[in-house]
Amino acid sequence: MNASLSKKFATENNPTKSEIETLQRAIFDNLFHIQGKSPAIATKNDFYMAVAYTVRDHLLQNWLNTIQTNFKENVKIVCYLSAEFLVGPHLSNNLINLDIENSIYKAVKESGLDIQELIDTEKEPGLGSGGLGRLAACYMDSLSSLEIPAIGYGIRYEFGIFNQKIRDGWQVEITDKWLQQGNPWEVARPEASVTVNFGGHTEPYTDEYGVYRVRWVPEYVVKGIPYDTPVLGYKVNIINTLRLWKSEACESFDFQRFDLGDYYEAVNSKVNLENISAVLYPNDEPIQGKKLRLQQQYFFVSCSLQDMIRTHLGKNPNLDNFHEQWAAQMNDTHPAVGVAELMRLLVDIHHYEWDQAWKIVQNTFSYTNHSLLPEALEKWPLSVFIQLLPRIVEIIYEINQRFLERVHIKFLGNTEKLSNLSLIDESGAKYVRMANLACVGSHTINSVSSLHSKLLKETVLRDFYELFPEKFINVTNGVTPRRWIVQSNPRLTQLIKEKIGDDWIKRLDKLQKLEDFIDDSSFRHQWRIVKRAVKQDLADYIQINGGIQVDPTSLFDVQVKRIHESKRQHLNILHIITLYNRLKHDPNLDIVPRTFIFSGKAAPGYFMAKRIIKLITSVGDVVNNDPEIGNNLKVIFLPNYNVSLGQRVYPAADLSEQIATAGKEVSGTSNMKFSLNGALTIGTFDGTNAEIQEAVAKENFFLFGLTSSEVSKVKSQQYVPRHYYEKNEELRGVIDLISSGFFSYGDCDLFKPIIDNLLYDDPYLLLADYQSYIDCQEKVDEAYKNQDYWSRMSILNVARMGKFSSDRSIQEYCDHIWNAKPITIELQS
Ligand SMILES: *Cc1c(COP(=O)(O)O)cnc(C)c1O
Repeated sequence: MNASLSKKFATENNPTKSEIETLQRAIFDNLFHIQGKSPAIATKNDFYMAVAYTVRDHLLQNWLNTIQTNFKENVKIVCYLSAEFLVGPHLSNNLINLDIENSIYKAVKESGLDIQELIDTEKEPGLGSGGLGRLAACYMDSLSSLEIPAIGYGIRYEFGIFNQKIRDGWQVEITDKWLQQGNPWEVARPEASVTVNFGGHTEPYTDEYGVYRVRWVPEYVVKGIPYDTPVLGYKVNIINTLRLWKSEACESFDFQRFDLGDYYEAVNSKVNLENISAVLYPNDEPIQGKKLRLQQQYFFVSCSLQDMIRTHLGKNPNLDNFHEQWAAQMNDTHPAVGVAELMRLLVDIHHYEWDQAWKIVQNTFSYTNHSLLPEALEKWPLSVFIQLLPRIVEIIYEINQRFLERVHIKFLGNTEKLSNLSLIDESGAKYVRMANLACVGSHTINSVSSLHSKLLKETVLRDFYELFPEKFINVTNGVTPRRWIVQSNPRLTQLIKEKIGDDWIKRLDKLQKLEDFIDDSSFRHQWRIVKRAVKQDLADYIQINGGIQVDPTSLFDVQVKRIHESKRQHLNILHIITLYNRLKHDPNLDIVPRTFIFSGKAAPGYFMAKRIIKLITSVGDVVNNDPEIGNNLKVIFLPNYNVSLGQRVYPAADLSEQIATAGKEVSGTSNMKFSLNGALTIGTFDGTNAEIQEAVAKENFFLFGLTSSEVSKVKSQQYVPRHYYEKNEELRGVIDLISSGFFSYGDCDLFKPIIDNLLYDDPYLLLADYQSYIDCQEKVDEAYKNQDYWSRMSILNVARMGKFSSDRSIQEYCDHIWNAKPITIELQS
């Protein structure tokens, strides 16, 4: 049991002895009846499961009450459609939200168990690859906490994001078998299954009223089985649902083959259909041409829309008012095929006329854009689309034709506009453009930071902005304070509660009250003690898991996120080697000792990203073992970055590295989590860095580098990275040291791809930003030397994070996009 938790519980109300005994009995009952184990032979996982089931039993009643309320008319339900939900472990989060941590802790302890150990036993569901999936999870948390009825719809991947191991300094991918030990948080609802068509052809026919219609004769049909997970809010009765779909073959479908005696072929094709929900493709993996991914998208969106329609018809006579009771938010373009699918369901199945159906569709959907890179906009080869979804293609063509007629009138036949806006890319081989489909089918299109909003209108969606400016709004991303401070940083939470109470947990802007204590030197002292203790926790973790001793008084300089050239982990490495060279030239140099902490996964097929990991670990091997360097520099790469690891790392950071090339990071959310835990940011003017800087004030933020417009300018003027190398002696020393094989046992080829890329191409402008970054890091050193001043800045960062709560984001979505209102769930027992 760690000290922070015991300290925290000591301040809470004491549950009665009989309450604790009841819980204890429930835990052992569940161990016996569900796990089929006696305490004598139970594993740690069995105990974890028993506790998890006990917690789940506590929430079932409210969950059912919420579901029943949703079946009443006039409740508007928000449906968050997302291919990823990176929810993180449930147990500890649910204990906090249910406000039963104290009693469960005591019941567990009196049973001779360690709650922290059980919490750490939970394998987190890796159903997302990074920021986009985590955003969906924070939004689900806030929807519940704001008591908005909501369903998160996605895919129940059997294998989530791979587990990363580091072998010889390289990333190795291991399959994520998160379901192997069972998942106590989900409930399968096979009775609510739906079916989804694929392949085949379409047939026109005339119905009994003489109306022309089309029927889709599929080649195969897949069953979608929903698995529901409760999503709790903070100390509220409402419990929303995360409904994830698993694919299965329809048993009846291949009977023909069984009859023909082709049993193995039939089983084989069954296996293929079950593969649809088998594996998560990382969001930054090149997607073009991955047929299975389009199948996944259509599968989960079709299941979800059918589910919504079925629920709707259970409480309404028809679908005329569908858009009044459902708001469907598309998290990026992955669910965009839903625009055409809802048209199909309305027109082909429910026999709506096109115009009325289109009105319903447009009033139902809204779309969140997450990309500024034209090459990252999703598009699918038309041929793949025709093969998999023949009826959907016809509908997309119909939508496109009607849409382009309007464009034609508006832009008086400007053919360039027509070809840019068209849902079909006809510049070469034909593609379906998912962002265009999402824009046309939505009533609102939102960006995720003010800077992104501006750039979006100037670049990738410029023509759409010109066509319907009224559709565009910005909703700056946010993170949930429940997971990202209350749960992950109990020490700091406790200190803040002692000073200003706890209303900030639901109203994050109340953190502002901390500013009243900024001149209180004993408060600043306590602040430092807490940070130091949290750093010690991480140092212990590093020692246990990596065998490297790090000094908790050194500056913890942290960059944890997906490994990507645009995020520039290698710029961070250039700084580390710069410091290394300086220390080697002058061992008495007065620098602030730093522990550099990296973590992050590279997409399995991303050559450069994987080599950057190897560079980080190789530099670490040299630096960490150089006796002349000692504790002045340590470089740590923590394997397998995920939510659980994030919860350990963010609270312990002094410095948050947010150093993407300006204009590449649309938002960023780790920057918010770091700041909320008292780290200061070194960052470019990019994504939400700009808004964080504005909130905390310039003097409490380390800004460096080119702005996005300067980046565009440099790029348009024939950027020659080699000139920076030639002119800057220190930079040259760094690059030459890598090239010489110094970090690779004399192997000059190992990092040549990285070096050549920097010297001859450098698309992410590392060399152009190098000096500015190094200079800014010196300012960080200066500031850190004055610990008391640093604490002041740290407190101000936390006090001014109010805006970055996902509660604020969700309130904006409710007010400006969804028109959704809170409901009250009556307490029953
Ligand atoms: C917050 C978070 C991210 C997003 O990090 P960025 O630095 O904003 O890209 C990615 N992965 C995990 C596990 C997170 O918790």
